[in-house]
Amino acid sequence: MATVEVRGIVKRFGDVTAVDGVDLLTKEGEFLVLLGPSGCGKTTLLRMIAGLEEPTEGDVLIGGQVVTDLPPRVRGIAMVFQSYALYPHMTVFKNIAFPLKAQGAPKAIWKEKVTWAASMFGIETLLHRKPRELSGGERQRVALARAMVREPNVFLLDEPLSNLDAKLRASAREELQQFQRDIGTTTIYVTHDQVEAMGLGDRVAVMDEGRVRQIGTPREIYHEPADTFVAGFLGTPPMNLLEKENRTFGFRPETFLPLEVSGGHNDVEQFQFEVTWMEHLGSDRLIYGNVGARFTHRHVVAKLPANVTVPIEPGETYTFAVLRKDLKFFDRETGLRANPIPL
Ligand code: ATP
Repeated sequence: MATVEVRGIVKRFGDVTAVDGVDLLTKEGEFLVLLGPSGCGKTTLLRMIAGLEEPTEGDVLIGGQVVTDLPPRVRGIAMVFQSYALYPHMTVFKNIAFPLKAQGAPKAIWKEKVTWAASMFGIETLLHRKPRELSGGERQRVALARAMVREPNVFLLDEPLSNLDAKLRASAREELQQFQRDIGTTTIYVTHDQVEAMGLGDRVAVMDEGRVRQIGTPREIYHEPADTFVAGFLGTPPMNLLEKENRTFGFRPETFLPLEVSGGHNDVEQFQFEVTWMEHLGSDRLIYGNVGARFTHRHVVAKLPANVTVPIEPGETYTFAVLRKDLKFFDRETGLRANPIPL
């Protein structure tokens, strides 16, 4: 177990600034997720931590030691890529044993370590097979087992679940989290999938254009977004963002409810909601429309749980409400959180 830290790290590829001054410090044994849209610099940041990419500026520290100029193999890290990169001509046993061989570990301990790692991922019975004889989920477990045999201090994972179908992905997520808790190895995990990030991360660093916009627990980044990017990136659908004079303000679709359902308290903000369109999703109803002309960017969406059976029809206008505590305010220029104003 070790902490991972990056200080003022920058990576430029010619004119492209892939990572634009990132500071991060993990806790020991933490599961930290790097989340952000395609091209925001997640993979480049992970590769600099691994030592596969040289930073243009800044430093990487593992276990408090500066490792910026050290090669990957002495950093005490193991990395699993999206592609798994298994050797097709080798059996599962040989694939898992490969890092031990590369390390020059005596053959006598291969069997012990491979058995240990394979049992951790429930693949003991597959050791004689070749990768082509495995399902996507099994291949993924082989890749993780191979990364584990070296007993790394830090685990670096780049979208390791993205080749799995949705159902398998859910069970693989559960397994991965369980496994990480059991072994307690500090883990940095890259994904653009917010469900994965929220489900797996002790903390999530939300990235955009080479920068970390916010780092916090899944609850913090969802309920208290630091800026309009984070607010508009998380959630399906994401936070409604409207403008009033010098402020942007927002509220989550699930906090926007018919007045009678919201309880009609005096700590609510009321809106006249002209409904234009609806979608029934089974567990929820998504209701699209516009709120009063006193706001710019008037288009909003409400997400009503199926047990809220209030009749709602497109073409009609209803009074909806949001608890004031669920309204989030942002500076219109910078997009950063700001003090509330009366609406
Ligand atoms: P994705 O989710 O699509 O993998 P990402 O957030 O991991 O994206 P990176 O792969 O880190 O993003 O890329 C960040 C930026 O740097 C992108 O604009 C990309 O085109 C650019 N980039 C990455 N690697 C190189 C390279 N070797 N040469 C030039 N530009 C690169």
